[in-house]
Amino acid sequence: MDIISDRLKQIQPSQTLVISAKAREMKAKGRDIISLSAGEPDFGTPDNIGQAGIRAIQTGQTKYTDVGGTAQVRQAIANRLNTDYGLDYTADEIAVSSGGKQVIFNAMMASINPGDEVIIPTPCWVSYPDIVTLAGGNPVMVACNEKTTGFKLQPQQLREAITEKTKWLIINSPCNPTGVTYSNEELRALCDILLEFPNVWILTDDIYCKLTYDGFVASTIVQVEPKLKDRTVTMNGVSKAYSMTGWRIGYAAAPVEFIKAMMKLQGQSTTNACSISQAATIEAMSGSQESVQDMVSTYQKRRDIVLELLNSTPGLSCIKPEGAFYLFPSIHDCIGKTSKSGVKIVDSESFVTALLEEEGVAAVHGAAFMMEGYFRISYATSTELLKEACTRIKQFCMNLQ
Ligand code: PLP
Repeated sequence: MDIISDRLKQIQPSQTLVISAKAREMKAKGRDIISLSAGEPDFGTPDNIGQAGIRAIQTGQTKYTDVGGTAQVRQAIANRLNTDYGLDYTADEIAVSSGGKQVIFNAMMASINPGDEVIIPTPCWVSYPDIVTLAGGNPVMVACNEKTTGFKLQPQQLREAITEKTKWLIINSPCNPTGVTYSNEELRALCDILLEFPNVWILTDDIYCKLTYDGFVASTIVQVEPKLKDRTVTMNGVSKAYSMTGWRIGYAAAPVEFIKAMMKLQGQSTTNACSISQAATIEAMSGSQESVQDMVSTYQKRRDIVLELLNSTPGLSCIKPEGAFYLFPSIHDCIGKTSKSGVKIVDSESFVTALLEEEGVAAVHGAAFMMEGYFRISYATSTELLKEACTRIKQFCMNLQ
């Protein structure tokens, strides 16, 4: 008898984690590898936040908390949502989980019946389709083509994708992997469609909301259309904006009944998120936001440098995104060519595999994000390494014949 469940066999390992692990393995064997594959800030956690974690240990905040997080952290999150977006949530409408990923997992597991559909605009974060599948739902991918939609879901596409089985729309702005960010007006147009379909819930993944450039301010669904508040899960976390990936804190703001449902599930799986990380999150939410601003201005400089280098590389072209720390260049002009070592570039996977083998640059193929013909690089790494990586990518592309 096979020990592995049929359910598990339906899903894939996270491709970004697979490629990052491969890059680490090659590095350990002595290869000179630059990894642009992980979605992880290269900055340390800001000191005021780290100190709050240390204080939590020293003052014995090392026990179980309420499943959904301490009252203090939930209130601090509610306050931040109010300051950042003018949203009005009570602490009861907030729940803390072990990372944004667990929030999404909880939301899907708590709501999906077999055959329910979840609309996912693509390119999308690698985990959405697999989480939906694990929960027994059907991911409905809606391709948001670069040329015709700028990688953004159009109102008409949304309307056409909704069926009687649609339970959720997942929206991610700024987006991983493209960095594109919906404007207030663009969200407004999607909200207008959603108002026509009262059975469709919305999960808005705002994890990159603070990482926006050129003065662009990211909006969120409930802020744009308060009437959708009673069927929206606003998901966010500290991983990206506060450089706290390892602390594992994500949160949901949602109607109380749905928060309770998610916490019923969490109470039978991981219980509360780490108590020390919760204490640190209070400081992230309530303390000075200056370090976030510093990181954002560094990311913006890096985005501009990398964008220019990529767009001057033969065979590549890349749009200028407003947020996150990713670029998603097109490799359409490289397809069909052959690399220096004789690898035929037939798709995004062969492109990134040959790039890693030949030039030691790790990036993620577009197919992992449900969009062929592109690859994703993360610019959350030092400017020196980014420049060197771009030189190598250029070399790789110039060698294609
Ligand atoms: N959502 C998106 C779009 C992401 O890119 C990530 C992380 O890569 C997450 C959610 C989950 O982040 P975490 O679980 O670290 O909070």
